[in-house]
Amino acid sequence: MIERIASPTRTKQIVGKYDFAFQKKFGQNFLIDSHVLNKIVRSANIDKEDVVIEIGPGIGSLTQELAENAKEVIAIEIDKMLIPILEDTLSEYSNITIINEDILKVNLVKLVEEKNNGKPIKVVANLPYYITTPIIMGLFENNVPVESITVMVQKEVADRMKAQPGTKDYGALSLAVGYYSEPYIVANVPPNCFMPRPKIGSAVIRLTKHIESPIKVHDEKFMFKIIRAAFNQRRKTLVNSLYNNLNNELNKEKIKEAIEKTGLDERVRGEALSLEQFATLSNILKER
Ligand code: SAM
Repeated sequence: MIERIASPTRTKQIVGKYDFAFQKKFGQNFLIDSHVLNKIVRSANIDKEDVVIEIGPGIGSLTQELAENAKEVIAIEIDKMLIPILEDTLSEYSNITIINEDILKVNLVKLVEEKNNGKPIKVVANLPYYITTPIIMGLFENNVPVESITVMVQKEVADRMKAQPGTKDYGALSLAVGYYSEPYIVANVPPNCFMPRPKIGSAVIRLTKHIESPIKVHDEKFMFKIIRAAFNQRRKTLVNSLYNNLNNELNKEKIKEAIEKTGLDERVRGEALSLEQFATLSNILKER
């Protein structure tokens, strides 16, 4: 068996050998706990048929685990200082492609077309926390063929992704995640599983993409515009939030009528509405 990269000793050794300096701006907190890695790979249900995209391989600890279980791994890393290190630590694997790029600039639809004939792939990552939301929303909104996304994120973000109406964590992110996928929190992960240690707790979350969204909405973009407006001033009533945050695009009386037609009280706040209710409301408003 090839030596594990994910241990405190081996990670220190690799970092020392290359005189590697951790870059805070890239969100570099490397996993040093092999149990957590196993849990990520198991919960992502990776097998030898799978093509996996990993975002931010670091020094390769998760990449190694993925390569041993998947058919192929494509790892996209922004930091050029890590590329020679990865070529060394992963030299014994022939099923890994490393791409030195900013994930937010990669055309993932094209990549999946080239690597898996456009068939859905799995995304697995210990994400750089400063861009968690743009990465996940990019995968969803750009219709990248993805079966599931299993990622380490800040615990607080995982809680927001899975939040239910009426709770403090509930917001635009919860609704977007619920529209595109089924979220499941796999594990909470404490700071001592990383090098260097982050200040906050982390969690692994799996988002299994809906094959077809359970929600029927005439205009997705319009619904998300309504959702963002509703949460822009979350302490205000929905009528006032929509009126104030849509640049007076909608007349107050019409908003009230639509809210009532949705079956809601006109004093309701946005945070009380389920995804279905936002979809109904946006369909009614769109008809006008
Ligand atoms: N996968 C490794 C592990 O678990 O030990 C490293 C995870 S670390 C939290 C995040 C990684 O993402 C770092 O290697 C960092 O350089 C990389 N990264 C940061 N921003 C990125 C971007 N825009 N595109 C691709 N990789 C990025």
